[in-house]
Amino acid sequence: MKGESMEPSIVQPYRIKVTEPITLLSSGERSARLVQAGYNVFNLRAQDVYVDLLTDSGTGALSQEQWSAMMLGDESYAGSRSYERFRTAVDDIFGFRYVLPTHQGRAAENVLFSALVRPGHVIPNNMHFDTTRANVLANGGDPVDLPIDAAYEPRSLDPFKGNLDPAKLEELIAAVGVDRIPLIMLTITNNSAGGQPVSVANVREVSRIAHRHGLPLFIDACRFAENAFFIHEREPGYAEKTPLEIAREIFSLADGMTMSAKKDGLSNIGGIVAMNEPGVFEAARERLILMEGFPTYGGLAGRDLDSIAVGLREALDPAYLADRVGQVRYLGEGLKAAGVPIIEPIGGHAVYIDALALLPGFPQSAFPALAATNALYLEAGVRGVEIGGVMFAHEDESGSVVYPRLEMVRLAIPRRMYTRTHFDAVIEGGRAVARTADSLPGYRIVEGQGPLRHFVARFEIVLRR
Ligand SMILES: *Cc1c(COP(=O)(O)O)cnc(C)c1O
Repeated sequence: MKGESMEPSIVQPYRIKVTEPITLLSSGERSARLVQAGYNVFNLRAQDVYVDLLTDSGTGALSQEQWSAMMLGDESYAGSRSYERFRTAVDDIFGFRYVLPTHQGRAAENVLFSALVRPGHVIPNNMHFDTTRANVLANGGDPVDLPIDAAYEPRSLDPFKGNLDPAKLEELIAAVGVDRIPLIMLTITNNSAGGQPVSVANVREVSRIAHRHGLPLFIDACRFAENAFFIHEREPGYAEKTPLEIAREIFSLADGMTMSAKKDGLSNIGGIVAMNEPGVFEAARERLILMEGFPTYGGLAGRDLDSIAVGLREALDPAYLADRVGQVRYLGEGLKAAGVPIIEPIGGHAVYIDALALLPGFPQSAFPALAATNALYLEAGVRGVEIGGVMFAHEDESGSVVYPRLEMVRLAIPRRMYTRTHFDAVIEGGRAVARTADSLPGYRIVEGQGPLRHFVARFEIVLRR
C-alpha cells in the first residue's frame, strides 16, 4: 500500500505515556467475587477484573493528539469551532451532504428511524446490531436480517462472511413492495456475525439494487476502518488502495450512515448520523433537537467532537489498523494453539470462543457459554461476555425453550489498550479452562427474566450429570 505494509503486524505503533493501574486478585478472591456477582460477570466491579474484554465500545485509549485537541474544545452552544473540526473530518472521509452529531450510535439510529420508519415498515440489513434492531422495533418497523448463508456456519472461511445476500434482498423487496421499505441498511463490519467484513463488491451490488428500486442505502459504519483493512487484505484490486480511499469508495455508494464513534471513532463517547436527502435531514434535525440537543453539538461536549475529529483519522492509519487486527489475531491464534476452539475467520474486533466445541456434551440448558465465561474469570481474572443461551434462549408458542445455534464467549479487544503481556495471560487462562473442561459446572437462573436478562440475571451452580 503506497510503500506502507498493512500486514497484521507485531509492530505496536505507540508506547505508554500514562498508566492506569489494574490488579490480578488471588484465585480465592476471584472466586468470592464471582459468587457475590451471582455468577454473572456483568455484576462484577471493574476493579475486580484484570483484563477486561467485555466490550470494545468506548473503552479504548486516546492518543496524545486527541487529548491535546480536547483542550481546544469550544463549548459554545451553537456553531462551535469544535463542530467545524468535526465536520471537516466527517466530510473528508464520508462525504455526505448533511451531518448531525449524536451522543452515541443508538441515538443516531433513533434520530434516523423516528424520522423515517412507520408501523408496518420493513428494514432489510445484512444483520441488525441489537440496538439497531431495538430502535427499528421501537418505531414500529420490522427488522429483517439477510446475511449470506455462510454467516451462520462457524467453520466457513468465507473471506467476506459479513456480506448481505442480494438474492434474498430482491426476494424481500418483491414480497413486501417498495412502499413498505423506507431504507436498506448494511452493517460494516457485520458485528452480530462476529465482526466479519463486507466487500466493496457487495456494497456496490446492494447499492445498485436499492437505487434501481428508488430506495436509499444507509450504512451502519461503526467499524468502517476495520472493514477497510479487510478489503485491502482480501478483495482483488484493493491491495494498493489506502483505508481512506477504500472508505471513500464505500460511502460514495450510500445515501447516508449511522455510526457509534465509540468504535472506529476511537473515542469514549459519540455518534454520527448523516444523509444526502434534504427532506430526511430536516425530519432528523427536528428529532435531534428534541432528543439530543442543538444540531452543532448533538448531545456531546465540544471536546468530544474534537476527540472524534482526530480519532476518525487515526482509525484509518495503516499502522494503527495493522496493529489492531494483528492484536485480535494474536489472541485468536494463541487461544487456538492452547486448545481453545474459536470461530473462524477471526474478525476485526473480537475473538469468539466456540463453547459447544470446547465443552462437548454439555447440555445447553446448563448454559455452556456461561460456564466457559465464568471459568475464564476464575482462572485468569479475564472478563468476556456470554453470547449464547442466557442472551438468546426463549420460549416458542408451545412453551418449549428454543436455544441458539451457537454458544460463544466473546472476547472484545479495546483499542490501543492492552499489550501482549495481557493477551498472553488470556491465552494461559484459556489453556487452563480447556484442561478443566470436563469438570466445569453448569448453571441455573435464580433471578432475572426477559430479553435483557443477561445484563442482570443471577445464577446458581447445578451439577451437569
Ligand atoms: C455499538 C454498535 C451500535 C450502537 O452504538 P452505541 O454507541 O453502543 O449506542 C450500532 N451498531 C453497531 C454495528 C455497533 O457495533
